[in-house]
Amino acid sequence: MNKHKRYIKMVIGFLSLLFVSFIIWINQATPTSHPIIPSTLGQESNYQSLVDSLSTGKKISVNKVKSANWKVPLSGLLNLEADAAKHAGLEDHDEDIQIFTFHLKHPLHGNFLIDTGVSHQFYNDPQSLGIPSWLASGYGLEKLTILTATDDYIKEKNLDLKGVFLTHLHLDHISGMSAIDKHVPLYVGEGETQESYFLYAVTRNATDIMLEGRPELQEWPAEYIDVFGDGSMFAIHSPGHTAGSTAYLVNTVEGPVLFIGDASHTAWGWNHGVEPGSFSTDQARSRGSLDKLIKLVKSNPEIRVQPGHQSL
Ligand SMILES: [Zn+2]
Repeated sequence: MNKHKRYIKMVIGFLSLLFVSFIIWINQATPTSHPIIPSTLGQESNYQSLVDSLSTGKKISVNKVKSANWKVPLSGLLNLEADAAKHAGLEDHDEDIQIFTFHLKHPLHGNFLIDTGVSHQFYNDPQSLGIPSWLASGYGLEKLTILTATDDYIKEKNLDLKGVFLTHLHLDHISGMSAIDKHVPLYVGEGETQESYFLYAVTRNATDIMLEGRPELQEWPAEYIDVFGDGSMFAIHSPGHTAGSTAYLVNTVEGPVLFIGDASHTAWGWNHGVEPGSFSTDQARSRGSLDKLIKLVKSNPEIRVQPGHQSL
């Protein structure tokens, strides 16, 4: 009898250890195991140089590509507990959004993308990119419809891409990666790959597969980076939605545009200064970053704004 009890105790002890290890493993998950190096492009800059560039910076041509329509819960996109959201009586529902890629053409340095849109492979066969059907349905991919696949855009424009500037590494921002040649350099914000968050335990494998065989990610090493060293474009560290979330200020031929990524997914969130909801890893920090970007645009009203998943 004693032997039996001892055996049960041992099994319970072993299972508890297994469970605790599992919880620790989940909470230590990072977005990817892909290697990262400091960026070889760009130079450290500051807020004032960015503001000065609005009148003096070189100009970049930009084309906005609506790659897919999608529907996701508003509570993920927007903090519905914020006073302004409560005041407006906003309730959770499936919100219509888009997945974009932005094609930049610099007069000297060539063609780049901000984020990647959606590729045919991601749309038609997510399993082949490490997204099993349970994850695809958890992510709501059945509500996604493709408009312009990134493959088709690259082919139509015969683009020889020199780099991809990522706002962050969430799956809906690297969902066009399989359309992009494997040698193309990739740039991300500081700390993006080092953040621990339990949900990365389920997306990490897909992120690793989409980055497999590609060069090391290149990390912007400061809060403000003059990307080409000529004032045409700045990377602005805007953490909170993810640790390395990055906004890009581009002096386009039609005036300055601030690509804010998911510092605000929605037009409403930007217009009312309400940060993203449950999709962020650090909501308080994302609120601070959104405030910083709103302040930049209020002080420089010639800047037009492009939210992560809607248009103003
Ligand atoms: Zn997003």
